[in-house]
Amino acid sequence: MSSKLPAYTIKRSKRKTLSIYIERDGTVSVLAPEHNTDTEIETIVTQKSYQIYKHLAEHVELNATRTQREIANGESFLYLGRNYRLQLVKDQDVPLKLKDGHFYLMNTLKDEAQEVFKTFYREKALPRITSRVEYYKGQMGVTPGTIRVMELHNRWASCSRKGDLNFHWKCLMAPLTVIDYIIVHEMAHLIHENHSEAFWNVVDKILPDYRERKSWLKFNGAGMDL
Ligand SMILES: [Zn+2]
Repeated sequence: MSSKLPAYTIKRSKRKTLSIYIERDGTVSVLAPEHNTDTEIETIVTQKSYQIYKHLAEHVELNATRTQREIANGESFLYLGRNYRLQLVKDQDVPLKLKDGHFYLMNTLKDEAQEVFKTFYREKALPRITSRVEYYKGQMGVTPGTIRVMELHNRWASCSRKGDLNFHWKCLMAPLTVIDYIIVHEMAHLIHENHSEAFWNVVDKILPDYRERKSWLKFNGAGMDL
C-alpha cells in the first residue's frame, strides 16, 4: 500500500546534502543538490513522509492562534497576556488608550490603527523591559548595553556583541511572566552566545519554571500580532 505523499517544491542549488523544511506558510520545500534526480528526491520524501506529516500537523497547531484582527468595535487586542475589546471613540486626549478593560481608539485614526497600536506597545515596552533588565542584571552578574524596542524578524529579542538588547514590541502582548522569560533568555546570551546546556542552566537558575513560560510562547506566539 502506498501512502499519499505531501506536496512539495524542489529547489536545487550547489549544496551537498538534501534537506526538507516547512515554510512559514505551511508549504513543504525540498532543498536538493543539483545532481539529485526527481525520482531520487521522491524516494527520500517517501521515506520521510511520516516525519513531514508530523511536522505539518505541528505547524498547523502552532499557527492555530494566528488571527487577522479587524479595526472594529468589539475586536479584541492583547496586552500583557489578556484580551481587551476595542471601542472606537469620536474624541479623546490620546490616539489610543487602555482604560477600564477596553482599548479606546480615536475613530479618525482607523486607517492608521496598526501604527497607532505599534506606537502604544513600543511606548509601554521600553520602561517596563528596562526596569526588568535592571531587576535581573545584579542576580545574573551581567551589564547590558542599550535597550531598544523595535520590530524584529521572526524573533522576540536579540542581542549584539556589544551587549545591546533589542526586544520586539509584540513582547507586550505576552503575560508578564513570559516577558520576564524573554528578558532573562536574552540576558543569558550575554554569558553564553549559544543555546548550550550551560546557557539553559543560567536561565534555570533565575527562572526555575522557565519551561512553562517558554512553551506558552511557543503555542501562543503566532497569535501575538495585530
Ligand atoms: Zn536564544
